[in-house]
Amino acid sequence: VGLKHDSYQLTGDKLLDGLLAPNFTKSSCLSRYQSISYRKSSPHKPSLYLVSKLRDHEKLHKSCGPGTEAYKRSIKQLTSGQIDSSSECRYVVWVACCGLGNRILSITSAFLYAVLTNRVLLINEESDMSDLFCEPFPDASWILPKDFPFKNQLYRFKKHCPRRCGNMLKNNVINASTELLPSFLYFYLSHDYDHYDKHFFCDQNQIVLRKIPWLIMKSDVYFLPSFFPMSSFEEELDKLFPDRETVFHHLGRYLFHPSNEVWKLITTYYKNYLAEAEERIGIQIRVFDHKTSFQNVMDQILTCTRKEKLLPEVNVDKSLSAPYGKNISKAVLITSLIPDYYEEMKHMYLKHPTLNGEVIAVYQPSHEVKQKSKNNMHNKKAWAEINLLSMTDVLVTTGWSTFGYVAQGLGGKRPWILYKIDRTIPDPVCGRGISMEPCVHAPVYDCKAEGVVHAATVVPYLRHCEDVSWGTKLF
Ligand code: GDP
Repeated sequence: VGLKHDSYQLTGDKLLDGLLAPNFTKSSCLSRYQSISYRKSSPHKPSLYLVSKLRDHEKLHKSCGPGTEAYKRSIKQLTSGQIDSSSECRYVVWVACCGLGNRILSITSAFLYAVLTNRVLLINEESDMSDLFCEPFPDASWILPKDFPFKNQLYRFKKHCPRRCGNMLKNNVINASTELLPSFLYFYLSHDYDHYDKHFFCDQNQIVLRKIPWLIMKSDVYFLPSFFPMSSFEEELDKLFPDRETVFHHLGRYLFHPSNEVWKLITTYYKNYLAEAEERIGIQIRVFDHKTSFQNVMDQILTCTRKEKLLPEVNVDKSLSAPYGKNISKAVLITSLIPDYYEEMKHMYLKHPTLNGEVIAVYQPSHEVKQKSKNNMHNKKAWAEINLLSMTDVLVTTGWSTFGYVAQGLGGKRPWILYKIDRTIPDPVCGRGISMEPCVHAPVYDCKAEGVVHAATVVPYLRHCEDVSWGTKLF
């Protein structure tokens, strides 16, 4: 199939320009080394500072991660409530919420926070997430051990949890001068976080938080852009990401490698359906409102691909006598929970010749009908499809969807975004993204101004999103 992944010599390219650590057993995670043969090599290089910071962070995981003496000591602090200020290891525990796209974006945000504050990130992996990703750090695990003291209560941590930092700030239980600090705090950083939770993004609170060994976080959004206006992290972020548009592109490719099982799904599908075509077009279709008319969405997709010259029109007055053979000009990869868009587009290109003579083949790997985020196999399929989308040459995504954001970030592409359909088809129907960064579905909180501010007025590299007018994104 013309793929060049028979030898796995660890060249600079295979390690994504130093982003990935070389000291892994290759067979434990084939995707780590093979994905470069499927995704185009990225023109965006990680900064040397990011590379060295990641190597240091890996060492921190090795010395503080589960199974180490330092971890055991820290668990003792957690259960006794006695903080030992000389302790060298501190932790962020990430708690799952929502669909896979949301999870990947919030894990990435928690990871950047861990890097910025020298903490170890541990993932509370529920069974629906098992065997989706390889371990990202060499000789260390990022999975929260099963015997973690609050393991069975973590799912109960919600917006109104009493140990929530927002509540504690509200009731003045903790502030900059508190001496007896708790050994852990819980943060609720989802799109509907309240005024008090937002104080997480205030510099003076970060000073207090440094002393607390365990921080537990739950979020459904990509909250990391809110670190950028903070003076605590400004200098460090400048050095880590001189190009702001690449934050998720680098961190996402660093953290999320499909497990061997998922990688098999991805590569088999790619070789069977996508490899032969001259060009691959990914179209991610996500319909949030079940009342949206099928025909409106279909018209929107076809108008977008025609106007942007992504796909050719067909001559409806002529019929094709034979199905297409091997010479496929463009393979269209459709992802959607339902098969209807795929069926319609496939039949259109099977029945009629295109006006420019191109041969178009249309594929869809699965149609799961409904979101079933508690189901492990369902999540594996979703993860496989996010990766397949990231391997296409041209990407069309649905606005508001974190599933699409992850695909565009991993693939390093600014997608054509299908704007939200309310009752009518939007005009224009789609537009090119201003950056490949995900959109935060929440306004940026400016602590100094004590309120929500227009993103673009805080720092020059934050903008409102193309798809969510009140959302924020780096560019
Ligand atoms: P968002 O809701 O669009 O922001 O994306 P999420 O990934 O957070 O949640 C949607 C979930 O629905 C996904 O994680 C999948 O479980 C499922 N889903 C949505 N669209 C697709 C699709 O095209 N293919 C597959 N396999 N699953 C999908």
